[in-house]
Amino acid sequence: MVLLLWTTSPFAATLLLIRTADEQSPSIQALERVAQSYGIHILDRTATPGGSLLIPSGQNIRGIVVTAKTYGSERWFAYERKIRGSEQLRRLPLLVFDIARESTSTHVSDRWPSVNILTDRRSPQCVYHVDRDAEISKELGGLEFSCSGETSEPIHYFNDLTKHRVEIIVEIAQDSRRYPIFFKASLAGRDMYFLARVPTTLARDTEIAQLIWTNFAGYAPVAMFIRRVSGEYGWHANGYYANFTVDDPWLREPYGNLSYHSILSKMDKYGFHTTIAFVPWNFDRNDPSVVRLFKENPTRLSLSVHGNNHDHEEFSEERTIDIDAKNVRQGLARMEQLKKSTGLDYDRVMVFPQRIASEQVIGLLRRYGFACTANLQNRRHESTSAPPEHIWGDFVALEQGVPSVKRELANAPKEYLAILLFLQRPLLLHAHQDYFARHDFGTVAAAINQLHPGIRWVGLGSLCDRLYLTNLEDNGTYRVLLFGGKTTLENSGGERRVFVVEKVDPLNIGFRDVRVDGKEIPITKTPTGIQFKVAIEAHSSAIIVTKFSDQQDEVAPEDTSKTDLRIRVLRYASDFRDLVVTGTDLGRRFNDAYYSGMRGRYSQIDALLLFVPLVLIGSLVIAIVVIVRLRKQRRMHERD
Ligand SMILES: [Zn+2]
Repeated sequence: MVLLLWTTSPFAATLLLIRTADEQSPSIQALERVAQSYGIHILDRTATPGGSLLIPSGQNIRGIVVTAKTYGSERWFAYERKIRGSEQLRRLPLLVFDIARESTSTHVSDRWPSVNILTDRRSPQCVYHVDRDAEISKELGGLEFSCSGETSEPIHYFNDLTKHRVEIIVEIAQDSRRYPIFFKASLAGRDMYFLARVPTTLARDTEIAQLIWTNFAGYAPVAMFIRRVSGEYGWHANGYYANFTVDDPWLREPYGNLSYHSILSKMDKYGFHTTIAFVPWNFDRNDPSVVRLFKENPTRLSLSVHGNNHDHEEFSEERTIDIDAKNVRQGLARMEQLKKSTGLDYDRVMVFPQRIASEQVIGLLRRYGFACTANLQNRRHESTSAPPEHIWGDFVALEQGVPSVKRELANAPKEYLAILLFLQRPLLLHAHQDYFARHDFGTVAAAINQLHPGIRWVGLGSLCDRLYLTNLEDNGTYRVLLFGGKTTLENSGGERRVFVVEKVDPLNIGFRDVRVDGKEIPITKTPTGIQFKVAIEAHSSAIIVTKFSDQQDEVAPEDTSKTDLRIRVLRYASDFRDLVVTGTDLGRRFNDAYYSGMRGRYSQIDALLLFVPLVLIGSLVIAIVVIVRLRKQRRMHERD
């Protein structure tokens, strides 16, 4: 069990939380959880009857959070005087949260509108509607998120907001009525945010994106506030990146329902990029016209590695680590052959066939210099008991030193993708050739471009070169959490910056060296890994390469020949499935039913089921050819 924990730095930005003595609530815990994800420290101050509010000096306080109980009490006036009198505090954004009907006392009735309860009126059609124009809603603006799946606790909402000059940020929409739960008001030059009491689930092991997705009201408004106040001081990514990967095709036109020519015209129109997760076994059968397409469009098309033979036990628990190692080496040797024969380069990113491999196999990727591995899951939950501690949550796992990043299905709900973008996670979407029979990825790309205009679509390799989070410490340095082995670190600011870069070494393997733009630099060992400084001029970038001490620069050569008959049969059966069966609607339905029913029992039966029709059709074709020939011969005999 490896425990990865990036502790909050002593220079982290701070959120001032004011609550009454012993006050605990799910909302406070949700706030703490979100603050932790952004790397924001909470300075907890208990409201006392005397109204003292001791703030230690030197704190970089970015915002103030007050519970409704405190805000609604008489003692609040004393605090408010103190806050107004402080140069540091008086203009900071302030959030009052957990506002329930019972928290309204006489003296606050002029401070916020009356609050009602929506318990019995919640219908299954209930959605949270996020205002498109609210500044803090960011990528969530204009979207609707389901209320279903939440606990049946009452939702409180604000009544008659129309009488006030406020900006409504989130409201519940049902039965063609809207019930505001989160709004902003500008009072005396300060942005004030008010959040009603909403159902809040506490799930220690659930990561932040899942919490927002399943309990929108409990986490999204708080996340919006914390993202807004922390700015550069909270964990953030430098830029937004997306990638679309299609698994399995080889370079022929078309590959089943995937036409390279047609997807290229869509990519030109919508600006996206497609990576082919290429099965190395296919290295020696390439259509020159498709190869040309890749060469002419390197910003649109790229190749990554998809297993080696893609047989069904490949990289599964059934295989020994020696077989796995041979498969990684042979896969690379075949990709090198492909590169030699076609001139096409590829990214050393592994997309495992079927499902992610064991930790041990991911360790092989580290040794053989893979940039990362991208799959539907990573092994974060198995390897760490620590709760996810930054905004990328379970998007990236690093237990073997190699980043293991999480992909999503191409038809994932737009609202879910918006949450991932709100958390500034790179979007990795994937599909198989049968997707193109019914869907147009152009519309998905257009929706993503709309969610975050300016998002950059890149190949899997380039995306893995950008895996880092950064924040500004209040001592003026930029801290970087580096995930990848090779990283392009950007300074998007208008002046020279010094970055303090941290890279974890969970297995304590050690590093051979760290190079910045090719030059070796000094490193310092830390309890969790290493740390080093990189200075970058304004609007420039640097390429950082960190090599683990067990990384091999040269991978031992492997025989690339295809001598195994079983694998050949399986690959041809896959061709038959992708190029023939799923070409028809009936075939696709058979394929869908088969895969949904058989998932988890993936076995040779697969090959058999697909191979039997192949043999039958093949035999039929041969029989027809033989009969036609025999008839022809007989006719010629008769003429003779
Ligand atoms: Zn595959």
